[in-house]
Amino acid sequence: RSLNGKVAVVTGAGSGIGRAIAIRLAEDTAKIAIWDINAEGAAETARLVEAAGGTAIALTVDCSDKAAIHAAAEETRARLGPVAILVNNAGIAPFTPFMDIDDDLFDKVIHINLRGPYLLTKEVLPDMLAAGWGRVINITSSSVQSGSFAQGHYVSSKGGLMGMTKALALEFAASGVTFNMVPPGFIDTPMLRAAPIDAEAFAQTLPMKRIGKPEDIAAACAYLASEEASYITGQTISTNGGRYMG
Ligand code: NAD
Repeated sequence: RSLNGKVAVVTGAGSGIGRAIAIRLAEDTAKIAIWDINAEGAAETARLVEAAGGTAIALTVDCSDKAAIHAAAEETRARLGPVAILVNNAGIAPFTPFMDIDDDLFDKVIHINLRGPYLLTKEVLPDMLAAGWGRVINITSSSVQSGSFAQGHYVSSKGGLMGMTKALALEFAASGVTFNMVPPGFIDTPMLRAAPIDAEAFAQTLPMKRIGKPEDIAAACAYLASEEASYITGQTISTNGGRYMG
């Protein structure tokens, strides 16, 4: 399980799933760069990682802004070292009936959820290729399987991220860098609590009769980041309480 002080960038780690991933990878001895647009949330996650004996830096970054991504990567390298693990987790998930989605909102969702991971991967992949070892883990969504009411923009962005994961897995298969994805089902975070969904009622429709915990997603990410997962690329660990299988 040991990640031997490798540097992991976790985006959107100032809240919910990203925070749990940051804490879990730190427990597995990675050094964590927390990138989030929310400075307070990022600082709180860094505090939690350090309280648990880990190493973390908190950077305030808009993960859809190319210049900000470049600056954050440079600062991460200078303070922690080259990046070995990237978890593209930052995302927004508005609910908007399709005919009410204006073009700017569509672009914003695509920029944060899809173009951001594209820019981030390009920025840190050279570190991984130079080391001959790397892990890119993309947090997608079970909504790509199910569709999601009033989320035409969001599901499009996550479907694009799934496609990008598979394309890069193939292109870089022989490089030592793996690309995998974890699509959460319904996970108890501020994002889910803000959604127009009755989470408790919904939980009763799930085979496991419960909403997932951020730690459930973090455990799947920890496995994919580990040495044990070195022969796994282009794959999906669906973490959804048995809602979709196969
Ligand atoms: P959350 O809202 O609790 O956390 C998202 C974090 O991303 C926040 O800290 C936010 O500040 C950050 N963020 C948003 N825009 C950003 C930007 N431009 N730059 C940097 N940081 C930014 O949500 P969560 O539930 O923890 O979601 C994490 C990921 O999991 C998202 O990609 C989401 O789409 C995905 N997901 C969540 C669920 C669920 O049920 N919670 C289900 C499927 C997929």
